[in-house]
Amino acid sequence: GSTIGILGGGQLGRMMAVAAAQLGYKVIGYAPAGDNVAADLCHDFFENGWGDKPALAAFAAKCDVVTWEFENVPLSAVEMIPAGMLAPDPRALETAQDRVKEKRFIEDMGGRPAAYMAVGSDDEFKQAVERVGAPGILKTARDGYDGKGQWRVSSLRDADSVRFPGKSCVYESMVDFEAEFSVILVRGTDGEVRFWDSTANVHEEGMLATSTYPPSASVSAQIEEARQLAARVAEALRYVGVLTLEFFATANGPVFNEMAPRVHNSGHWTIEGAATSQFENHVRAICGLPLGSTATRFAHVEMRNIVGEDALTAHEILAEDGEAHLHLYGKKEAREGRKMGHVTRVGHAAG
Ligand code: ATP
Ligand code: MG
Ligand code: MG
Repeated sequence: GSTIGILGGGQLGRMMAVAAAQLGYKVIGYAPAGDNVAADLCHDFFENGWGDKPALAAFAAKCDVVTWEFENVPLSAVEMIPAGMLAPDPRALETAQDRVKEKRFIEDMGGRPAAYMAVGSDDEFKQAVERVGAPGILKTARDGYDGKGQWRVSSLRDADSVRFPGKSCVYESMVDFEAEFSVILVRGTDGEVRFWDSTANVHEEGMLATSTYPPSASVSAQIEEARQLAARVAEALRYVGVLTLEFFATANGPVFNEMAPRVHNSGHWTIEGAATSQFENHVRAICGLPLGSTATRFAHVEMRNIVGEDALTAHEILAEDGEAHLHLYGKKEAREGRKMGHVTRVGHAAG
C-alpha cells in the first residue's frame, strides 16, 4: 500500500511522517483535538476522539497500513482498525499500557525488572513499602509518561507523605544504577531483527535529557544480555516495526525498566547518527520493505532534548555551532517540562 495511517499526533508522528514522505508514502494522522504537531506533515489529519467509531472507520478506509506513535491509544480505538492493517500487533500495545502486565510479561520472557508489587489501595501501598522496601517509587499502572504519575518514597516513614492516587499502581524499589540505556530494534515482516547501538540515557526529573554514544564500558558490557531479552520480546509478540526497551545498568547486570512499542526519544540521534533512522526503518518494516542498515556513522553522537522555554532561544544553537542538527517540533506553547525539540551533534573520534 501507499498510504500510512498514524494514531497519535505528537512529535514522534511528525518525524515518522517526514521519513514516510521521503519514501514516497502519503500519511494520514488521527488524534483527539489538541496541539497535534504531526498534522502539518500529514496529507490529511482526523481530529476526532478515540471513541468516535465512524471517524476511526473513515480514517482506516483511507489507509493501507496503520501504526501508532503514542502508546496510550485506547485498545478500543485500535480494535476499530481491521487487524490485518495494523503494525505492530496490538498485543504489544496492550502489554505496554499496563506496568504490571508489562513486568509480568518480561519476567515470563526471562527478564528482570526491579522488585515490585501491584497495589490497588492505600493499605496495599503501605504493605508494599514494607515488603519491597525503601527507597522506592509508586507509579500509576497506566497512562504515565515523562515521569508523570510517579511518587518517590525515600524512607519507610516517608510512605505516609505519599497520597495513594486511587487507581491501580505498582510500587517498585529504587534501582541503584550506574547508568541508564535503551535497546532499540526493528523487526521486519520476515522476522529479521536489527539493533541500533545503545546510548547512555540521562534523565532529569523523570524525563530524558540526553542520549550519548558511545556509552560507558559498564553499559557496553550489558548490552548483549539486554538485546537478547528484547529479541525474545519482539519474537513473542510477532512484532513488526521499531520496539524499545529501557534498562538500568547495575552491578548485577541489566535491570528492565519499561518498554515502548514504538519509536523512542532515545533513538532521535539515529536521524543523523545512523545509516537508517528509527523512523525510516519503522516505515520500512510496516510497509514490508527491506530494512536499512542500523550502523552508527560516527564515533561520537549526542542528542539533547530542548524542554520548555529553552525552545524560545533554541535558534542560538545554530549561530554557536554550524554542525548542530536542530529539530523543533512546532508546538504552540512552550510549557514547563514539555519536550519542544532536540539537538543532535555528531563527531569523529579525536586522534
Ligand atoms: P517515559 O517518558 O520514558 O515513558 P515514564 O513516565 O514511563 O517515562 P519511567 O521510565 O518509569 O517513566 O521513569 C522515568 C525515569 O525515572 C527513569 O528513566 C529513571 O531515571 C527514573 N526511575 C524510574 N523508575 C526507577 C527505579 N525503579 N529506580 C531508579 N530510577 C527509576
Ligand atoms: Mg514510559
Ligand atoms: Mg521511561
